[in-house]
Amino acid sequence: MGIIQRLDEQLSNMIAAGEVIERPMAVVKELVENALDAKARFIEVKINQGGIESIEVIDDGIGMDSSDATLAFERHTTSKINNKEQLFAPEFLGFRGEALPSIASVSDCVLKTSKDDNGTNIHIAYGKIMQVRPHSASTGTHIRVEGLFRKTPARFKHLKSANYEASLIIDLMEKFALSRADVAFKLSDENKVLLNTSGTNQMLEVLASSFGNRIARLAHEFTLKDYDFTIQGVWVDPQEHRSNNKGILIFINNRIIRSWYLQKAIVEAFSAYIPAHRYPVCIVNLNMDAHLVDVNVHPSKWEVRLSKEQQAYFLLLDGISKQLSEKVHPKEHVEKIEEAFSEQTKLFDVNHYIEDVQSLNLEVNESITHTKERHPTFPYLDLIGQMHGRYILASSEDDLYVIDQHAAKERINFELILEKMNDNQDQFDLLLPIEIECSSAFMERFEEFKSILNPLHIHIEPFSLTSYIVRAIPIWLNQNNLQRFMQDVMDRFLVESKINQEVLREAVIATMACHRSIRFNQSLTNIDMRHIIEELAYCKQPYHCPHGRPTLVKQNASSLWKDFER
Ligand code: ADP
Ligand code: MG
Repeated sequence: MGIIQRLDEQLSNMIAAGEVIERPMAVVKELVENALDAKARFIEVKINQGGIESIEVIDDGIGMDSSDATLAFERHTTSKINNKEQLFAPEFLGFRGEALPSIASVSDCVLKTSKDDNGTNIHIAYGKIMQVRPHSASTGTHIRVEGLFRKTPARFKHLKSANYEASLIIDLMEKFALSRADVAFKLSDENKVLLNTSGTNQMLEVLASSFGNRIARLAHEFTLKDYDFTIQGVWVDPQEHRSNNKGILIFINNRIIRSWYLQKAIVEAFSAYIPAHRYPVCIVNLNMDAHLVDVNVHPSKWEVRLSKEQQAYFLLLDGISKQLSEKVHPKEHVEKIEEAFSEQTKLFDVNHYIEDVQSLNLEVNESITHTKERHPTFPYLDLIGQMHGRYILASSEDDLYVIDQHAAKERINFELILEKMNDNQDQFDLLLPIEIECSSAFMERFEEFKSILNPLHIHIEPFSLTSYIVRAIPIWLNQNNLQRFMQDVMDRFLVESKINQEVLREAVIATMACHRSIRFNQSLTNIDMRHIIEELAYCKQPYHCPHGRPTLVKQNASSLWKDFER
């Protein structure tokens, strides 16, 4: 007698749920996709405790009649495709027929739906149908999902704090709103409205509600076309740039996707306008024949395969580059940016050297005397000079040292800030508090963010649903460009999924250190360079910058000797 048996329906639904329904955000994604596929014009999402307690999605789409409503919860039942042809060119966001049975297998779920006065109310709890009865309502669908993963503890324990789960949902809903400016979206968490768009196809208005008014004011709408693609999007003036790629959003046929390759085209187009290792804010929607895109790569449908990908790459690259060259003058722009950057980083600028000696460098000198009680970590180095405006060359008895001036200064500042952090004297109140715009996803986690910044003497308070104010900063933080500094810190904070205070605190300090460091292409005097070498030698961990990149490389004299075939 064999031991293989067919899995029962509940078990196989739970396995499918394991693939796509990994957290409340995924429930919202599937249900909102269903509402969009049902041609809804208004979609409302209500969450409680970041969706851990409950999620409700209400739409004014085509609804379901009673026979469809019960079928919808069975596996592999769908109204969206019925042949192979449609699988490879889906015109809907969903098509696998797995979302509803998966969600219902791991939650307590109530569906109320109505089509042409034929309404149904179905209650399914953890895969078991509890009740089906008639229901009277206008056409549309209302789904309430409660107690997600309550009976699957292995899943439940992977959920993070309610605020974090909420922030993921807000982020997702902002993307939906940007991908479909013609649909009205509303999101609220325990009656607090977090997103509300009008559905009047005003892209800049939607942009303002998710990225803030300042970004919307800097944005330009554009359209690019060739035989296969129509791309619509907005790019934001490159004076705005971010430390990570979260400001780049790509949609294909209004579907939210991830594409490293297309993202690269956008980054490339901006590269002449923004500093290295920084990212633009740019949102594009590529419309194309559905046959050109394969969505069937992974059940969660974030990844897609695109034929003619290279053609799309060049359409984006050339089109955005042209837009930028017409509307932004690269050289002037770069100078403006360099200026802005050097404002924060002129610590070692020759002209400011003398003035700064009394203020900023005082701390540096102090730090040298302070740390000199320790022994230097590498030997005394003779300065040779600066190379390519980026590197300091120096030699010891045995080695040639090439020091990355930016990374070295970052390391020095990092250790300096760490040392001084607990000194309360080092904080001052800003004469005028500065307002910083942010997303409502961010505001959801504001208290957490605040608790990390407070011990660093950065005092912030909530101001509106999408902004907060900075009241006081530590003296070593330059207040010029505080906006950009805070943006970088927020970006880092938002990508951290594990709430590890220590890691985040270090990331904030590393950002502080980076903002105070000398940039590449800055000429240094011999005094500057000697300072850097000496300070670096007294660092506790001189060989890496706080982001983990090396600060120096060494070439051994004996290997040089060999290279010259001696
Ligand atoms: P899929 O979306 O892949 O078809 P789902 O399990 O998400 O699978 O949904 C099953 C079916 O239920 C859909 O094909 C659709 O016919 C119907 N359905 C689900 N949600 C809605 C909704 N909000 N409005 C109308 N019909 C819906
Ligand atoms: Mg679906």
